[in-house]
Amino acid sequence: MRKSRILTGIGLAAVAMITLSACNSGSPTDPGAGGTETGGDEALWEVATEVDLTDSPTYDRMVERDGVIVGVKNDQPGLGYEDAVSGERTGFDVDIARWIAASLGFDEDQIEYVTIPSNNREQAIVNGDVDYYVGTYSITDGRKEQIDFAGPYFLTGQGLLVAADDDSISGPEDLAGKIVCSVTGSTPLQRIRDEYSPGDTVEYDTYSQCVEQLKAGSVDAITTDEAILAGYVAQEPDALKIAGEPFSEERYGVGLEKGDTALKDHINALFTDGGDVWTALFEQHLAPAGIEGEQPAVDE
Ligand code: GLU
Repeated sequence: MRKSRILTGIGLAAVAMITLSACNSGSPTDPGAGGTETGGDEALWEVATEVDLTDSPTYDRMVERDGVIVGVKNDQPGLGYEDAVSGERTGFDVDIARWIAASLGFDEDQIEYVTIPSNNREQAIVNGDVDYYVGTYSITDGRKEQIDFAGPYFLTGQGLLVAADDDSISGPEDLAGKIVCSVTGSTPLQRIRDEYSPGDTVEYDTYSQCVEQLKAGSVDAITTDEAILAGYVAQEPDALKIAGEPFSEERYGVGLEKGDTALKDHINALFTDGGDVWTALFEQHLAPAGIEGEQPAVDE
């Protein structure tokens, strides 16, 4: 019932087209190719040619501009990463953003990426600086007062990153007397302060800044989502490790302008019908770092 209503809303033909796997239309990491696949020979999606999306102010703005502005992260390997030399953007979140753009009829060279740190996300969406945001963005009631979320499209949980040779921390209860680093405006920083008793907390704009502090020995641990931490461990397994088990549930959503229900429903239908694409992106970007997971159902 719900599914058929959404299908009707965005056009059956468009849904059928955008969820086709293995059609050839280029690569999301190859700006020249016009929008699909990363690293293999087969395209994961096509750029939609018949998009029927009415009553979405955000989509109208994209059409007017003839392009999409997407908010992302640039320092989270496997999720949202920008190569400092080539400028190439890669990761699960970046490809989710590309997939959404393709479903709306925009290919890679019509996407502008804007790197926005955790603390500035709601404001960037409220200001209309980005059309949507895909970057380890947990769905919370507090954030929903300012913006809407499509999804969730991924579930993870808060964890701890420590030096590989540190056996003194195996959970958030072991943080007494320890200095813990996290990011301003993030749910993990709030939770570690509200629910646990670390010796001290320090905050930066980005998690890569925390990683530098940890490697320099000026903090004892970093706390954020395990999916993010696993990406850092995969880059430097001799220096870093995850300590203990996750101690929260973080549900990643796509941040949208509040009230743009048409766009939210469109993205949710894309996720619901696009299990093959989701799995391919997960296998490509997250499974190699040892991350496990299944595609969650989107919120009603
Ligand atoms: N998922 C958490 C949040 O949205 C932490 C990751 C991040 O800061 O992006 O706050």
